[in-house]
Amino acid sequence: MKKLELHWKIIIGLVLGVAWAVISAYFGISEFTINWIKPFGDIFIRLLKLIAVPLVLFSIINGIAGLSDVTKLGRLGAKTIGFYLLTTLFATTLGLTLVNTIQPGNKVSDSVKEQLIANIQSAEGEVVVDPKIAEKEKDAKEMKKGGPLRFLVELFPENIFLSLSNNLLMLQVIVFAIFFGIGISLVPIEKAKPVRDFVSSFNDIILKLVDIIMQGAPFFVFALLAGVMAQLTKNDPTLLVDVFSGMGWFALTAVLGLAFLIFVFYPTIMKLTVRKISYRDFFRKIGNAQLVAFSTSSSAATLPVTMDCVRENIGVSHDVTSFVLPVGATVNMDGTSLYQAVTAVFLAQFFGYDLSLSAQITIVFTAALASIGTPAVPSAGLVMLIIVLESVGLPAWWIALIFPIDRPLDMIRTVVNVTGDATAATVIASSEGELVLVEQERIENFKVE
Ligand code: ASP
Repeated sequence: MKKLELHWKIIIGLVLGVAWAVISAYFGISEFTINWIKPFGDIFIRLLKLIAVPLVLFSIINGIAGLSDVTKLGRLGAKTIGFYLLTTLFATTLGLTLVNTIQPGNKVSDSVKEQLIANIQSAEGEVVVDPKIAEKEKDAKEMKKGGPLRFLVELFPENIFLSLSNNLLMLQVIVFAIFFGIGISLVPIEKAKPVRDFVSSFNDIILKLVDIIMQGAPFFVFALLAGVMAQLTKNDPTLLVDVFSGMGWFALTAVLGLAFLIFVFYPTIMKLTVRKISYRDFFRKIGNAQLVAFSTSSSAATLPVTMDCVRENIGVSHDVTSFVLPVGATVNMDGTSLYQAVTAVFLAQFFGYDLSLSAQITIVFTAALASIGTPAVPSAGLVMLIIVLESVGLPAWWIALIFPIDRPLDMIRTVVNVTGDATAATVIASSEGELVLVEQERIENFKVE
């Protein structure tokens, strides 16, 4: 009998996780779920993050050291940045179009509006700024500090061990790895051989570790989903319904835009550029990465799985995978930029604030830039939303309204972010003649082994 493919097992884990959370809320044992099941989900995220930094470091060094032609690096860089910028701008514009057409903020009835605002106000009618929001506001201000070239300066590490020990400094690790790889390629072959062999063998071992972790993914995803949902519902399953009611139109607008990107936009780009890959195949090949993105809400934690899927299942070359995906996981967030645009305008509509055309254009660009600066971790998009709101003179505390509903939407926008990275890698590899499509059957045999 044919064994069930891994992505189906993960889907089952996911569904069981949600079911478990609802049942445990119903029986009033959410506390048990949070104390005894959720930790296994946390272990999954930790293991993936543990793998991400060494994987990026060694796979980039390995790729660059083996480059026969350094100009290729410049070409890859230009294509990658160009692709990411264009898709991000498209996503933001799509978000704005949808939110202006559907007008979710104007669809909330006055009574629900009052209720929602009362939820975030004290008895004296003052907005209670949740300490978490105040903290996020501080984080956002921190990100904004410095001159216009601060981002460039911060690309360069001053101490590689500090960069390696902080997952938010992935770009510095990438810069170091490129620099080191160039160094290796310029040293005589016999001198560089021990380091090259070491890096290449280390890289293979890390990839094996990704496979091992993924074997446990169905169970880990169950634990993650059960934990996240239990935190949302506490001991009251109707709480989830409450969160969505009132926010329903907003959630729908965001989900519509995100779904469009996943199911129409990326597959269309694929169809136009890489004809040989069918719609269904694309999703089968990157399904594991999408499911892990959905469960972890972190493109950085998903990176090892994305790299595995793109290289092993689609057949993108090592050079392209190891460069395009780590950069993408850190800077390319189409889902986040769409979400930020939709949310900023929704909040303006909700609070009856008219946004001029120029304010909306400002939102397109700030949301695109904010998404580039958004760390690839859960809810980071919400922090950076503060910058988007402030860019058009809207108050940061408005995000309090979005807080309860952010996590489920974060799960979907992370799927978009990861799908965008995988599409970029495939398209760029194809344009470089470095895509050797892996037959679906081979994948299935490989997974069954
Ligand atoms: N969670 C998203 C990611 O890791 C970022 C966000 O919050 O939008 O891609």
